[in-house]
Amino acid sequence: MKNRDAFYINGKWVKPNGSKTIDVINSSTEEVMATIPEGTEADANAAVAAARAAFDGWSTTTPAQRADYLRKIHEGLKARSEELAQIIAGEVGMPLKLAAAIQVGSPVANFGYYARMVTGYEWEETTGNSRVVREPVGVVAAITPWNYPLHQIAAKVAPALAAGCTVVLKPSEVAPLNAFVLAEVIDAAGLPPGVFNLVTGFGPDIGEALVRHPEVDMVSFTGSTRAGKRISEVASATIKRVSLELGGKSASVILDDADLASAVKGTVNACFLNSGQTCSAHTRMLVPESRYEEAAKIAADVAKGFTVGDPFGGSAKLGPLVSAAQRERVQNYIRTGIEEGAELLCGGPDAPAGLEKGYYVQPTVFGRVKPDSTIAQEEIFGPVLSIITYKDEDEAVRIANGTLYGLAGGVWAGSDERAQQVARRLRTGQVDINGGTFNLFAPFGGYKQSGRGREMGPYGLEEFLEYKSLQFKPNAPALTAQAPY
Ligand code: NAD
Repeated sequence: MKNRDAFYINGKWVKPNGSKTIDVINSSTEEVMATIPEGTEADANAAVAAARAAFDGWSTTTPAQRADYLRKIHEGLKARSEELAQIIAGEVGMPLKLAAAIQVGSPVANFGYYARMVTGYEWEETTGNSRVVREPVGVVAAITPWNYPLHQIAAKVAPALAAGCTVVLKPSEVAPLNAFVLAEVIDAAGLPPGVFNLVTGFGPDIGEALVRHPEVDMVSFTGSTRAGKRISEVASATIKRVSLELGGKSASVILDDADLASAVKGTVNACFLNSGQTCSAHTRMLVPESRYEEAAKIAADVAKGFTVGDPFGGSAKLGPLVSAAQRERVQNYIRTGIEEGAELLCGGPDAPAGLEKGYYVQPTVFGRVKPDSTIAQEEIFGPVLSIITYKDEDEAVRIANGTLYGLAGGVWAGSDERAQQVARRLRTGQVDINGGTFNLFAPFGGYKQSGRGREMGPYGLEEFLEYKSLQFKPNAPALTAQAPY
C-alpha cells in the first residue's frame, strides 16, 4: 500500500508544512501498512482558508447541482468498494466480507441517499408573515474515529455537502487510509476546489487547531466522551456549533416472556459485532433473576461460536482489535471484571490460542455482574458481554438507565407492544425492538453523555443548517412565491 505524503487542500494534493509521519498499523499482522503525514496547525489553517474561500460559491449552488456531485461521489466509491474493504479490514481488523457489507456498503448508500433526498427537501416555508429559509451553517470541521471509519466520515461529509457547507475532514490517525481514497474519489468527481479538504494528524494537535479556529462555524465530532468534552470546552471560546456522537454502554433488556434463545443470541451478536468496537454495542444483557442460569448457558455457547481469526481468512467471525493499546485496555477490563467478583462464563484476558500475532482478544462473557461495577459502567470497546439480573420491570429500566450514557439499546419481549412500552422508558437515542435491525436513515445519536445532535437521514442534514426568518408585511407576495430552486 502506498505511503501518503500530501493533504488534499483547495482541490490539489499539497505537501504538509512539517515532515513528521504517523505509521498506520495492520491490526492482524502488526506490520506498518503505510504512513500518513502528521499535520500541524499551519496545515489546519490552510485547509480552513480554502474551505472559507469556497463557501460563498458552494452555498449558492442549487440542490440539484449538489445532488449531481453527490451522485458522482456515490458512483466513485462504489467503483472502489473492493479496494476500500481491503483497506478497512487491514486498518480496523473487521472480517473482509463484513467490512465490505457494512464498512463500505453504508457510506456508498449514504452518498446515494443524500443525492436523492437533497432535491426533494423543503428548504423554505412560510409561517405567518415570515418566510423561513434554511441555509448552510458554513465551514464544517469533521473529526472522526477509527471503528467504522468511512461510515462515520460519510455520515458527516455527505449531509454537510448536501446542505451547502464546505468541509475540512480530520479522520482518525488509527484508520485514515480509506479517507485518502474518498479524497481521490471527490477529486475525480470534480467538486470545486476548497469544498472538501482532507488533513491528518493527532487530535490534540491538528484536531484542536480546527476546533479552535475562528473561521470554522461547526465541529461535527464522533469519538470518545473524553475527547468530546475537551472539544466542547475548546469550541466554547468561539461559540461554534458542536455536534457530538460519543460513547455508549447500551443495555439489552430481556423481559420474562421473551423467546430466550433468540433474545440471548441477538444480544451476543449485537455486542460482538466488529469485535465489540461499536459505539451502540449491546454490552449489558439484563435478564430476569429466574432465567439467569438458562440465559448464561446460551450466552456462553453462542459466544464460543464466534471464531476468532484472520480477517482475510474467510471463516473468522471476530477479527483482532484495532491496536495494541485497545487490546491492553480490553484485557485490563477483563481482569477488573474478575477482580470485582463477576462470574467468568467464557473467554478471559489471555490471547486466543494460536493467535499470538495480531491484536486478538477472546470473546468473553461475564455473569452475575453488579450494575454499578466497573465493567457494567464503563465503555470497554471489546468483545465483552456483562449479564446482569433484575427482579421486576421497574428495576430493569432503572439498571438500563443507570449509566452516564444513553446511545442505544434493545428490548426483547413476548410481543412488540410490550417491548415498545419498555423501550419508551429507556433514555437512549435508539432501541431495537425484538431484534429490529439498524436503519441507516433513522436518526442516530445519544442522550446524556452519549452526545448531542443526530446523524443520518433528513435529521442528519438538518444538523448542518441555520434557519433565517425573513419578516414581511402581512400578505406580501413573497410569502407564497416558490423557492428560487
Ligand atoms: P477518540 O475520541 O480518541 O478520537 C476520535 C477522533 O477525535 C480522532 O480523529 C482523534 O484524533 C480526534 N481527537 C482526539 N482528541 C481530540 C481533541 N482534543 N481535539 C480534537 N480532536 C481530537 O475516539 P476513538 O478511539 O477514535 O473512537 C472510539 C470512540 O468513539 C468510542 O468511545 C466510541 O464509543 C466512540 N464512537 C461513537 C459513535 C457514535 O456515533 N456515538 C460512533 C463510533 C464511535
